[in-house]
Amino acid sequence: MTIENTTYVACIRRENKPNESWCGKTLSHEFHFIDIDHAALNGEQKGLHVACPSCAKKIIESLCMVQKLDSSTIPKEDMRGLTTRFIVDFPCPVTMTNDPYQRIVKAISDICDHWESENPEMVMWPFMFGGEGTVDIIEVHAREDFYGDNPKNPNGEQLRAESNKDQ
Ligand SMILES: [Zn+2]
Repeated sequence: MTIENTTYVACIRRENKPNESWCGKTLSHEFHFIDIDHAALNGEQKGLHVACPSCAKKIIESLCMVQKLDSSTIPKEDMRGLTTRFIVDFPCPVTMTNDPYQRIVKAISDICDHWESENPEMVMWPFMFGGEGTVDIIEVHAREDFYGDNPKNPNGEQLRAESNKDQ
């Protein structure tokens, strides 16, 4: 997306800091979005103002998001034995009953567990079960271990204690 008329670029105010924008500017009387919701609604309705790209970048960075792990940074010689996707095509429709399906999910969980043992600061799990027609898709997600969900995380106990405190 390009911003053609910079006159209408507006910063987004932080809700807990009334004079500060997400990108760190001090706000006074110039037009600004009063919060993220205001900016998003304005964008959704194709309003006149557009959100300041630095504010938007900071907000997106701050969101706790599921991470897509970038395999393009791994040298080719280190890719042996690694996989990012597993596809099985049957030559014709086959019956998928619950039992083998659960075993497939269990196998994926085992792969996730192994990955967690190598990445104790992270958690990975089969996240979405879907598909269309006769195609089944299982999506696997990973994110930082915020709550000590990974039993191999050396800081797990502390993270669990902190997340219990918040509730
Ligand atoms: Zn800004």
